[in-house]
Amino acid sequence: MANPLTKLNVNFYEVMPPLRPKEVLDEANRCLYCYDAPCMHACPTGIDIPSFIKKIATGNLLGSARTIMEANPIGASCARVCPTSELCEGACVLNGESDKAILIGLLQRHVTDWAMQAQTPLFQAGESNGLRVAVVGAGPAGLSAARELARFGYAVTVFEAKERAGGLNTYGIVSFRLPQEIPQWEVEQVEALGVAFRYGVRVGTDISADELLASFDAVLLAPGMGAVPQLHIEGEELDGVLDAIAFVEDTKTKELTDAMVGKKVAVIGAGNTAIDAATCSKRLGAEVVQIYYRRTEHEMTAYDFEYEFAKQDGVEFRWLSAPTRILGAGGHVSAVEMIGMELGEADEKGRRRPTPVAGSEKTIEVDFVIKAIGQTRLLPLIEAFGLQHEHGIPTLNKATLETSRARVYAAGDFIFGGQGGTDAMVVSAAQQGKQAARSIHEALHSTAALSV
Ligand SMILES: Cc1cc2nc3c(=O)[nH]c(=O)nc-3n(C[C@H](O)[C@H](O)[C@H](O)COP(=O)(O)OP(=O)(O)OC[C@H]3O[C@@H](n4cnc5c(N)ncnc54)[C@H](O)[C@@H]3O)c2cc1C
Ligand code: SF4
Repeated sequence: MANPLTKLNVNFYEVMPPLRPKEVLDEANRCLYCYDAPCMHACPTGIDIPSFIKKIATGNLLGSARTIMEANPIGASCARVCPTSELCEGACVLNGESDKAILIGLLQRHVTDWAMQAQTPLFQAGESNGLRVAVVGAGPAGLSAARELARFGYAVTVFEAKERAGGLNTYGIVSFRLPQEIPQWEVEQVEALGVAFRYGVRVGTDISADELLASFDAVLLAPGMGAVPQLHIEGEELDGVLDAIAFVEDTKTKELTDAMVGKKVAVIGAGNTAIDAATCSKRLGAEVVQIYYRRTEHEMTAYDFEYEFAKQDGVEFRWLSAPTRILGAGGHVSAVEMIGMELGEADEKGRRRPTPVAGSEKTIEVDFVIKAIGQTRLLPLIEAFGLQHEHGIPTLNKATLETSRARVYAAGDFIFGGQGGTDAMVVSAAQQGKQAARSIHEALHSTAALSV
């Protein structure tokens, strides 16, 4: 989607340049093509990395694209947003004092960019098996599952509450890291296999769980998570208090203006969403953007590369600070009161608990407060399907991703926290979508075989 050339739009153009052709070849030829390569094991989707890189070196870009996208239906977005230093590149055997890891993410981007330009179909739908599967949510998990199910021969319908598919890749991750064209190409790949998309349909509201289960042989729930939770402090209802995810979505879907954010912005929280909200604010022209976090740099959950990126953009960090109330003038935010914190005993997860320091309150003048303290769980949908859950995380068979209700499976951020230690990442959502599709196929295939 081409945006008109204004200063603000230019600020939102993709930051990271692609590799130049010579760099691609040099990098591909540097790969040792390890047997049982550690990078493959470190990629949640298990892409055969040595194989896709070898195909680049021999000029077989179509084969390389198939290798990537076969393992990861969201491989073009992942090439741009995966925290590679913690995944594939972190495991590369060349990582060391005298050499550095192969730039796997950028090589993957080179290949998927080529595939987008070439517009050659990569995969075909399987022969119809007469069975129907509903997928709720067209984010990375839902798209990945839909693609696999279509290749197994199912008639797949994806129900998506928004007007477009892609989930947070389309609406949540800032466009200067992930332009919208990239997830749109991945959606087109899924559409080309005959998957039907019903947009603007919120399952649980516009169509009931029972209706879906009556019309489909299995249902996959991949609706992600909800809005940023409330801070539960005075002044939260004021104009100028924003939800970080909704704010980033505005920068991806509306005309960019400096009125979207003022000159002085306080961002509450220090995860990747907080960083994205802070860097967007800077790029919209805010002069002072400060991230406030109740713990310290050591406990922050943002990736190192995100932290460095924010510092380069001029974002400031204020540790051991939490908001106590938001002050307003004429209905709009004018200041935020912060209290100093200190770290006490470790909690059950080993993180030291922050406690307020009495009498340390101070008032900071701001125009906007952006809340970025995580995401809520989608309890209404869990209840609509009558699923067992623990604190909003559906109870699952971890091997199959089937929920407590027969024929209902779940994947992606919706089950984040219920699957062990993996972060909420695009690549893990893609893998869980694949895993759920395979479980559905195994279950329906054996049922179909029994009924013959
Ligand atoms: C600001 C931000 C930055 C991030 N940056 C990164 C990053 O750099 N790298 C990375 O790997 N990960 C990043 N993530 C995390 C990543 O985006 C998620 O882990 C991933 O998108 C999860 O995919 P999903 O398919 O489970 O959910 P989502 O992407 O949230 O998609 C869920 C879809 O379901 C739809 N939906 C919800 N409820 C319903 C319903 N009832 N009926 C129908 N449709 C429904 C939603 O509209 C949405 O389209 C970031 C997240 C955020 C918020
Ligand atoms: S999908 Fe992500 S983790 Fe896997 S190889 Fe590609 S960039 Fe690395």
